[in-house]
This record gives sequence, structure tokens and C-alpha cells, in this order.
Amino acid sequence: MKSKIKSIVVVGGGVGGWFSAAWMAVKHPNIKVTIIESDKIPPIGVGESTLPQLGTMMKEIGLEERDWMTHTNSIYKLGNKFVGWNIEGKRDHNTNHFWCSRWDEQYYGFSYALPEKNITSGLYHPLEKKDLFRNSKGQPGVDDKWNDYWLQLLRDGRKNHWEMAQDMQEATYLMDYNKSPYDWNDNLLVGTWQGVTYHVDANRFPEIIRDKIAIPKGVNHLHGHITDINKDDDGYITSIVTEDGEEITGDLFLDCTGFHRVLTKTMDIEWIPMPEITTTDIVVAPIKYKDVKKEFRPYTMSNAMDEGWLFVIPLYNRMGSGYVFDKTEISVEDAMKKYKKYWEGHEFIQEPQHMSWEAGKYKTQWNKNVVSIGMTGSMIEPMEANILGIAQAGFQLCSSLIARAEENDEVIGRGSLHAYNKNIDWLVETIKRFILFHYTLTDREDTPFWKKKKQLGIDENHKEKCWREYRVPGNNAESGVPDFMWAMMAVAMGKFDDDIKLNTKPELMEQANEKFSWLRTSAKRNGVNAPNAYEWHKKVLFSDKSHDEVLQENLEKYSKIVKIKEKVKSSSSGTIASPGN
Ligand SMILES: Cc1cc2nc3c(=O)[nH]c(=O)nc-3n(C[C@H](O)[C@H](O)[C@H](O)COP(=O)(O)OP(=O)(O)OC[C@H]3O[C@@H](n4cnc5c(N)ncnc54)[C@H](O)[C@@H]3O)c2cc1C
Repeated sequence: MKSKIKSIVVVGGGVGGWFSAAWMAVKHPNIKVTIIESDKIPPIGVGESTLPQLGTMMKEIGLEERDWMTHTNSIYKLGNKFVGWNIEGKRDHNTNHFWCSRWDEQYYGFSYALPEKNITSGLYHPLEKKDLFRNSKGQPGVDDKWNDYWLQLLRDGRKNHWEMAQDMQEATYLMDYNKSPYDWNDNLLVGTWQGVTYHVDANRFPEIIRDKIAIPKGVNHLHGHITDINKDDDGYITSIVTEDGEEITGDLFLDCTGFHRVLTKTMDIEWIPMPEITTTDIVVAPIKYKDVKKEFRPYTMSNAMDEGWLFVIPLYNRMGSGYVFDKTEISVEDAMKKYKKYWEGHEFIQEPQHMSWEAGKYKTQWNKNVVSIGMTGSMIEPMEANILGIAQAGFQLCSSLIARAEENDEVIGRGSLHAYNKNIDWLVETIKRFILFHYTLTDREDTPFWKKKKQLGIDENHKEKCWREYRVPGNNAESGVPDFMWAMMAVAMGKFDDDIKLNTKPELMEQANEKFSWLRTSAKRNGVNAPNAYEWHKKVLFSDKSHDEVLQENLEKYSKIVKIKEKVKSSSSGTIASPGN
């Protein structure tokens, strides 16, 4: 940077833009924050499944959880259920998609990411008098891993692979029976609140951040379509200009224009494609509940399909769903047919729409005085609710570097930019590997798509790479993709072979086994009396209004958004997502 930051300009009024603006305004009251959005281009309005760090952020910017949840038709999400990723043969998803056999599924929950409840209460070495899962500094250990004991039990034939989620995550029982994470006395049944995250209505999110935090904190809100960008001789942006001729100056610019990449594409940075990610198309739509008691699931469903995967994300008033597919294996028309067949008997609230993007990232995401936030800087694909999480990591890290410079009364230097770029790139790359391995660790060979993915995994030895991630030093419950998730994925995909080295102490195996049984039994005991998830949300968050009543209240808003989108589509090519578009 050339000078100290006195003003920040956020370009883009989607979730990424409003979150960035609100965060900067809350954290840096001495910096002037301006946000500008184009009335010609509505926010993308998809992206409903989130990661737990969203809750931490909302709390920190001062929004009351249940208040914003009600406003955004949100529900608690306890995890992600993967179905059919390793089982050959066609399954009748249309009639069968709310049920699957244990062999065919795996849950990834969040409640295990709670050392204080699950781990420190647990397995101490009786002689060494230390918590097995903490190193001498009290941090989760690298070699002493809770998971290793469970894996040893699996290896010894005392466990089945699907029991990993049941033994390690309190939320699994709740997910299995569509239960609420809170009981009627408001006790949280899954450790601390970070054991849960949310399904949110992406169309309703920006307004609550805008009205309740950003504007009250003094963010200057402008409307205008940026058409010109002025730079100094060194390539730093000095001002941006709207088509009406309004000029906006600033010291730092956050590009939150999503796939439009309005500032970033002028910065002369290399775009690095990710050709290994081939699932870069989607047909997506909001869907009406048919049988809300059954379909209101407190988790995301990720169902493997013949050419990709299909997500189901229940919100309070409706479900969100999309078929993410590989266009080299199926045409858009056929994917649309498959998607509609899947939902036969259900009503679409809006006609399914097709979107596509190029998977890739910019080589660096903070260049000169421009930071490319979230989808502006990189896009892999929507699996594992990663995208908003990457955006959040971006503006939060940017903010901490600004804070450090403010504290030291100095200009942000090259070192900080380097640290930012390294960290964000590491996160993007880790998530990319995690997503990719979901496909490539498969044993499926029943369609050309799965054959191709399986072969890639074999050629590039993804099994070994996955287990290596599990052991990466410092990869613990607080990491981007925590250690246990790599292990769970490998186990679910049948890639836990005898050559995987475990680090256990034989004299502790029985104690560990008892501990796992205790966790499972206590999760069940808590869960049996937990309320049905729908009933709980209805009563506690939605003042006894039914999902249909809330849907009716939202329909007008949805149809307004559709009308704007249709207008935009007819005045543009409709392709939204190559760098530079
Ligand atoms: C298919 C799909 C599924 C997804 N699923 C998930 C998910 O499950 N979980 C998750 O966390 N994320 C998901 N995402 C990502 C999520 O949708 C985004 O992270 C989120 O909506 C934020 O988008 P954004 O604000 O970066 O961009 P957008 O919402 O696209 O907003 C762009 C903004 O830029 C403005 N703009 C554009 N051009 C100009 C211009 N010339 N001048 C001024 N302003 C301009 C527009 O007006 C708009 O306000 C998904 C994304 C896709 C594509």
C-alpha cells in the first residue's frame, strides 16, 4: 500500500459486499467505509448452506442470532450428509431420496469440533496424566489423535464405518431423527453453539446486514454501475466512476462483485484455472415442501448423481436444491431433465435456472490497493458450503492486517500483502483438495463421470494425500478443513487400508472404546427427548407461523428478484462466470 488507509470502498452489494462493509465499519470506526452496488445487477442470490464461522462473525458484528435467523428464514444446520458417493449402481433418487442405507451414507457434523466438551472431558493417560488429544502446549496434538483410537477399533473389526459419525459427533443422532439442537428449555444439545451452523435465505441476507449493522455504523451506501476505473502510474486505483459520472475515491478497494470481477479483472493478475474441477455447471431452484415433517432436515444433503451431485438445503419456508454437474458428461438440457425428474411430485417456487462458472483462482488476491473477496478471487464449486467461508476469511484477514498497521501507525507493507495472499491461497487450495477427493476416492465406476474421477484419484494417489492431510501439523478442530474430516471422508470412501499408520497405546484401547460408547449413549439420551426440528423452529423462531405462511410472505420478494434477474439476463449474454466477464 502507498499510504495509511483512511477510506475503504466496497464494490458490490451482495452478501460478500455487505458483510465486508459491516465488518470494516465495526472493526475500524476511524476509517470511512463506502459501498456501491449496481441496480442493474442483482446479487447472485444463491448460497444457502454455511460453515460455523458465520455464527462467530454475526455475533461479533453485533447481530442477535435468533433475530437474524428469523429474518433470513434460517434454520440450524448440524452437518452435511453425503449419500451414494461410493456405491455403484443406479438408485432411484426420485422416490428414495429421503432414505438410504447406512452403507451408503456418511455425516460430517460440526459438534466434534468442540474440544471443550468432547475431548477434555475424556481420555486421559492414567500414567502420563495428560489429555491424549492435547500436546504439551495444551493444543490439539499432531500425533495423539482421538480419531486414531476409533480407527484402531474399526481396524480390529469392532466398529462399522458409519459409526464414526455416531461415536464422534453428538449431532448425528439429532440429524438421524430430524431433531432440533435445542431442547424446549433452551439447552443446546451439541456442546457449545459453534457445533451448529445455518441454512440461510441468500436473498434475504444482505438487507439485514445493511439495515441493522452497516448503515447504523455509518457505512455510506451508493447506487451506481461502475464503468470506469482510474489508476495512477503504478497501477493503484485512485477512483472508480459510475455510468452517471459520479467519481468515488478511496485508499483501499474491496472487489465484491462476485463473478463480474469489476476491479480485479483490470489488475493484470494471472488467472489460474482448476481443470481437475469439472463440476462447474448447476441447475438450481427453490422448492416447496411436500411433507415438511420429513423433509425439514437440520442438515445439508449431498447426493451423488451420475454426473455430479445434488444438494438439498432445507430452510424454514422452503428447500433450496441444485444439481452440480460436469457438462462434458451431460448436456444442460439432460441435466435439467434429470433434476426435474428427481423432484417429480414437488413444486418449484421458481423455474430452475442454469448457471456455469470456470473453476479457478487469481494467483494473488490482494494486489496493490485491490482485494478480491470470495467468489471474485476464486471459485471452486459449491460443495461443503465453502464459498462464503472463503469470503469471510478474506475480509477478516484483511481487517486484521489493517488493525495491525493502525496499531503501529504504519502503512501496510509488502510483507502483509504476501501473508494475506499466502493464507488465502492455502485455504482455497486446501478446500479444493478436500472437494476433489470427495470424487476421486470413490470406487464407483458405473458412469463415465465416476470412472474418470476414480482414475484421477488412482493416478495421483489421492488416498495417500488424503491421509497426509489428516496428519498435517497444526491441522486441528479450528482449521479450514480439520483433521477428522479428512479421516471421515477416507473411511466413508473405503480408503482406510492396513498401510495407514495409527498412533495408539494398546493399554488405552478399552478406555477409548468405553469413551466412544459413552459419547454415543449420552448423545442419544439427549436426543431422544429433543424436539422435532420443524416444531422447534416454528415455535421459537417463527412465532408459530407455519412454513407455508412464511413462504407466502416471501413470495413477493422472490418474484421481484426474479423479475430483475430476467431483465438483466435479457440485456446480457447470460454467461456469468469466466474471469473477465
Ligand atoms: C451455484 C452456487 C451455489 C452456491 N452455494 C453456496 C453455498 O451453499 N454456501 C456458500 O457459502 N456459498 C455458496 N455460494 C456462493 C455465494 O452465493 C456467494 O458467496 C454469496 O452470494 C456472495 O456473493 P457476492 O456478494 O460475492 O456476489 P454477488 O451476490 O454476485 O453480488 C455482486 C454484486 O456486485 C455488484 N456489481 C456487479 N457489477 C457491478 C458494477 N459494474 N458496478 C457496481 N456494482 C456491480 C452487483 O450489483 C451485486 O451487488 C454459491 C454460489 C454459486 C454460484
